[in-house]
Amino acid sequence: MKIAIDGPAGAGKSSAAREVARRLGFRYLDTGAMYRAITVQALEKNVDMQDEDALVDLTRRSELEVKSDDQNGNLILLNGRDITRAIRQPIVNKYVSIVAAVPGVRKELVNLQRKTSLNSGNIVMEGRDIGTNVLVDAEFKFYLSATVEARAKRRWLEMTEQGMNVPFDELLDEISMRDQLDQKREDSPLCIAPDAYVIDTTPYSLAEVVTKILSIVSHTTH
Ligand code: C5P
Repeated sequence: MKIAIDGPAGAGKSSAAREVARRLGFRYLDTGAMYRAITVQALEKNVDMQDEDALVDLTRRSELEVKSDDQNGNLILLNGRDITRAIRQPIVNKYVSIVAAVPGVRKELVNLQRKTSLNSGNIVMEGRDIGTNVLVDAEFKFYLSATVEARAKRRWLEMTEQGMNVPFDELLDEISMRDQLDQKREDSPLCIAPDAYVIDTTPYSLAEVVTKILSIVSHTTH
């Protein structure tokens, strides 16, 4: 079974997708982490973010591996190096949507995502275009949304808990900018699949969102 979970930054996709996968005993794949990995590589190699050919070439030459860790999260290895923490740096947030808008980069990573799904059996895959493009035949599609303020507040709390001191307004601007870029790009923009269940997570806790998803999955399959 394939479950696709899409939505904008900070809607609670990663936490919900990981927990749903853990409860069902499915593999979890965070596709945003893959775009982030290529962005880390581009920043380290000083690749011009406007140079699409260079970004595609870099993606082709990168050996990207996504493994499951013991919490059912993802470990990201790039050319054998663990960059799981590096992909969460604030500078990566700034550039990742520019890298992710390049069609040749998407093509490479979507191939890898489909291959992972084929090799994994049951999977919960999370991103922006999973239900609309990567796994159009997924048995279940969810689109998680929330107001931009609620999403920025969640990110701010998460980062503060990890000891990172980022002003709230800066996060709000960054998330709004990523929303724009992800929704307006030409190649597989962020949008709601016609057959997706839409959940506005603004008033709900993570546990409530997980319960809603699991109840839809179990009602429809039993
Ligand atoms: O989910 P996360 O915030 O880590 O994703 C980072 C970025 O990667 C998104 O803002 C988007 O630009 C890109 N992305 C994408 N398609 C996906 C997953 C992520 O374009 N399937």
